[in-house]
Amino acid sequence: MTTDKLKKKAPVRRAAAPGKGRAVKGAAKAGLHAAPEAAVPVATTDEGDGLSLAQAEAVASAADGGGFAELGLHETVLHAIADAGYTLPTPIQRQAIPLALNGRDIMGLAQTGTGKTAGFSIPIIERLLGGPHRTRALILTPTRELCQQVEESFRKYGKYAGLEVVSVYGGVGYDIQVTALRGGVDVVVATPGRLIDHLEKQNVNFDELEILVLDEADRMLDMGFAPQIQRIVAAIHAYRQTLLFSATMPPEVEALARKYLRKPVVVQVGRRSSAATTVKHYVYPVPKQRKAELLAELLKSKEMDSVLVFTRTKHGADRVVRPLELEGINADALHADKTQGQRESALLRFKEGKTRVLVATDIAQRGLDISGISHVINYDVPQQAEDYVHRIGRTGRAAQTGDAYTFMCADEIAMVKTIERTINQEIPRISVTGYDFGT
Ligand code: AMP
Repeated sequence: MTTDKLKKKAPVRRAAAPGKGRAVKGAAKAGLHAAPEAAVPVATTDEGDGLSLAQAEAVASAADGGGFAELGLHETVLHAIADAGYTLPTPIQRQAIPLALNGRDIMGLAQTGTGKTAGFSIPIIERLLGGPHRTRALILTPTRELCQQVEESFRKYGKYAGLEVVSVYGGVGYDIQVTALRGGVDVVVATPGRLIDHLEKQNVNFDELEILVLDEADRMLDMGFAPQIQRIVAAIHAYRQTLLFSATMPPEVEALARKYLRKPVVVQVGRRSSAATTVKHYVYPVPKQRKAELLAELLKSKEMDSVLVFTRTKHGADRVVRPLELEGINADALHADKTQGQRESALLRFKEGKTRVLVATDIAQRGLDISGISHVINYDVPQQAEDYVHRIGRTGRAAQTGDAYTFMCADEIAMVKTIERTINQEIPRISVTGYDFGT
């Protein structure tokens, strides 16, 4: 039998509205609200990530109403935003702008494409308006491309604000950067390596720095910039405002947040809508003891070239891998019993396409950048609806379509129904002859 023989059943009836306002797990784990007086208000939204901006606008508008004017921005800033053609703030902007204007430290969990750059550059411009021309804002980014994009944002939204912006990155124009830095620019956008150079040569002075942004913090750490970030932050006084943005929240980013942020507010744009827009999901009803066979059967399809399988337990993960290997399918397990080195090499092999199937527990995959996945398979139905959303957010990234399959045995039917209610979407059933247990 092949997947061609799969028979799609009609979707079930439409479910109730989703629950809102889930907590940010990673942030809680990070101890970001450990001390009572340092309680972290958690602002979350379930929409946004993966939405087209037009959709994001509609969602934001439906949720709250109100445009940029209601965020308390100055006329010159509103004018520039209107010139950019934006009518409504995206969800991350709606959350982050007022908080940043109030001087709060922010831990923003958001990916590119959510409007996060405007989310921090607009309030910075607003705060710098009319002040002295000193270096008052520093944005650290991992790459030169990102530096250029951020600089471009400051120019776009700050075009009537009379602010000087310079971007500072390796490989080009050292002397021009020196002249600009020494002349006293308002905003410096930099990669950590090149900025250290300028700091050492005393080309730049952070005595009056008010706002520090660590953009794409996870990427900066991946690129080994932790020591440089440390040295740069050490050159800035403690009374600054710090905004940290990251697409993922691995322990290293949590540690960074603990070290550099003061009573941060966590702002998150969830993955719900990427599930709804680019991922096709299906439920396969299957008896528990036949899940392994069904997986091997589905893997006969060549389209399934890079498959992330989730199991509830680490033993479960090992149990899935062994029979696949016997069938000659390259598979690896990723779970908490593996050493960091084993996990990294498993991930690398998967990314390079040397292993076709990576079997992981939820905990092991959290925070890992596993992109380019063709299929996600929930071998076990996740116990939390939000885990379902996170798992399937692993596929269908960057507007590619991905498929997410969930194997559902009889005792998992209720959990699937809960998930359907939460995502406000029915997941079509695919019944494979010989496997379906008759639901
Ligand atoms: P970012 O997530 O910061 O990389 O932004 C992604 C894109 O969204 C950029 O091209 C921005 O120009 C655009 N953008 C940002 N904010 C808005 C908005 N409120 N409305 C429409 N487009 C926006």
